[in-house]
Amino acid sequence: MTNYNAHFRCIAGCDEKYPLDEIVYKCRKCGSLLEVHHDIDALKNRTGEQWKELFDSRSGQHRWPYGSGVWRMKEWVIPDIKDDNIVSMYEGNTNLFWAKRFGESLGMNDLWVKMCGNSHTGSFKDLGMTVLVSMVNEMIYRGKNIKAVACASTGDTSAALSAYAAYAGIPSIVFLPENKISTAQLVQPMSNNAIVMSLNTDFDGCMKIVQEVTKNNEIYLANSMNSLRIEGQKTISIEIVQQFGWEVPDIIIIPGGNLGNVSALGKGFTMMLELGLIKKKPTIVLAQAENANPLYRSYIKNFEEFEAITPEKTLASAIQIGDPVSVQKAIRTLREYNGIVEQASEDELADAAALADRTGMYCCPHTGVALAALIKLVEKQKISKKDRVVVISTAHGLKFSEFKVGYHEQNLKGVNSRYANMPIKSEPDAAKVSGIIVDEMKKRF
Ligand SMILES: *Cc1c(COP(=O)(O)O)cnc(C)c1O
Ligand SMILES: [Zn+2]
Repeated sequence: MTNYNAHFRCIAGCDEKYPLDEIVYKCRKCGSLLEVHHDIDALKNRTGEQWKELFDSRSGQHRWPYGSGVWRMKEWVIPDIKDDNIVSMYEGNTNLFWAKRFGESLGMNDLWVKMCGNSHTGSFKDLGMTVLVSMVNEMIYRGKNIKAVACASTGDTSAALSAYAAYAGIPSIVFLPENKISTAQLVQPMSNNAIVMSLNTDFDGCMKIVQEVTKNNEIYLANSMNSLRIEGQKTISIEIVQQFGWEVPDIIIIPGGNLGNVSALGKGFTMMLELGLIKKKPTIVLAQAENANPLYRSYIKNFEEFEAITPEKTLASAIQIGDPVSVQKAIRTLREYNGIVEQASEDELADAAALADRTGMYCCPHTGVALAALIKLVEKQKISKKDRVVVISTAHGLKFSEFKVGYHEQNLKGVNSRYANMPIKSEPDAAKVSGIIVDEMKKRF
């Protein structure tokens, strides 16, 4: 086990290398992002089959820290960290939801939704944050002078950071764009005793401030430019394939903003391919809101150029990002995985979420973006109805009550709310109530 090792390296190909306990976020030579590079030759001391057996044997177990869906794959995540220093809430292990009725409405019968929102803080951000905060905890244990952790956020990153930091007893500071996140997302870091800074700017503006504030290295930067988070998030691919008995689905659809998550998804598949766990590559579809679509604009020009934009307001507030930090990693992933980028309007994303809710889901707006992309790509025949498709649901719908209520009250801008369903007011009179029920049953079913 101890001969496995990993370090940071520059994604642009400089031969810069840094240990994982060094406080560094970008290449010191060229300024590009870093990635965690694993010693693949060392990991080849187990065959693909042996890795599968090892991960299977730890699933559903309780032995610290392998009960976590992330740390179950510790050798592939951060091999060199003391188990006692790991900060975990047994994240991951989220269910694959067979979207039977929703799939049937599109003529499909192999449609699945990976419910990443069924997690401690209600979004997939927990997967990356357990790794980052664990590494910070390990660094403090090794004597590094880190006083706090900080991030800019569209809501879910700050919720995850403040929870994991509070669990470990590490101070946290979060920078949020004023009036641009949901009430639940704002209350989460407040409750976990983070220093919550509400700035009169957008996410990209908050990102600039947090980079300034963390420059002196005493406050550790927890945004996804910090590639430790990608290591946790990449376990999503491995977990999905494992849940299908180590079979690779045909298509995976994921909503993207800062584009760390799609990069992580690709990295998980690449490691499984390199280490012989799988042979097939899935097609990766990245879904963006039309109001915040810089990658879509680049995609239709074959990724020949990329231009940051100032995004418009979108209901999918966690992906309202115009200048994504991980764009280069994301483009590399999409090139390697037969990638498609699709976009969804406010009306399309809201209706897709509502339609899915009517088949038993409870979708956040970002999941709505991914489902709308699915509907459009099936219509365009870029996705076959026979394909096994997995849609990544990135957060829990319960975090987005304003979106849900606004939809049903029909007061969301740019949204027609075709599936609105408001409570029906009536006097407490059994005959009247029965009459209404008969009418409604006729109308609806
Ligand atoms: C962060 C987030 C995303 C986008 O992930 P990126 O890595 O920024 O592309 C999508 N949906 C939800 C709910 C999120 O919190
Ligand atoms: Zn470099």
